[in-house]
Amino acid sequence: MDAHEWRQRMVEVDLIGRGITDDAVLEAMRTVPRERFVGENDLDEAYADRPLPIGCDQTISQPYIVALMTELLRVRPTDRVLDIGTGSGYAAAVLATIADEVWSVEREPHLAHSAARRLSELGFERVHVEVGDGSLGWPPAAPFDAISVAAAATSVPPALVEQLADGGRLVIPVERSRHHQELLLIERDGSDIVERDVVPVRFVPLVTDHD
Ligand code: SAH
Repeated sequence: MDAHEWRQRMVEVDLIGRGITDDAVLEAMRTVPRERFVGENDLDEAYADRPLPIGCDQTISQPYIVALMTELLRVRPTDRVLDIGTGSGYAAAVLATIADEVWSVEREPHLAHSAARRLSELGFERVHVEVGDGSLGWPPAAPFDAISVAAAATSVPPALVEQLADGGRLVIPVERSRHHQELLLIERDGSDIVERDVVPVRFVPLVTDHD
């Protein structure tokens, strides 16, 4: 099978098979070439449903989790999206396939630069990769219709909630105890903030100097 066929199989088995139903998400996952976001030594594993190393002790998230987070965000073609923890740039590419514009913030300059180069080579012109501490959000481009955080926080950073547009959605893994991280969906409705637990997850820590 070639990469395209592996990708279709991944969508059938690991996404539809596990309950992902949003057509825009499935279509994005059918088109973004995940093999371009993993290391050369991991090409054989590009379509396995697990995280893979990308250098700097970091990982590209497993396809199911990227799909689940994107589905929870209910991303629309007119949306402005903030992605925290660019890593390889894969999740940013999936978001950008659906949304209007994506800002992606990464604290490791080396990862940010290689992701930016990869995304531009692949033609993702509406993704802006920025180096910084994503727990502060990205004020110059706020507010956002959707915010996706790919690293586990000890608590929800207030800046991210502040940068949600009215009707905006935020998905973020939060550490509940040493061995328990929970994926949260937070929605803004006017001045009301509604939060719900979605599923236990496992992410690398969100590293921040601002507590
Ligand atoms: N979404 C990525 C996977 C990210 S792994 C992908 O699709 O490949 C989590 C990333 O978050 C790592 O690259 C890590 O360096 C980054 N990170 C950790 N703390 C951060 C912070 N405070 N601000 C921005 N990025 C952070």
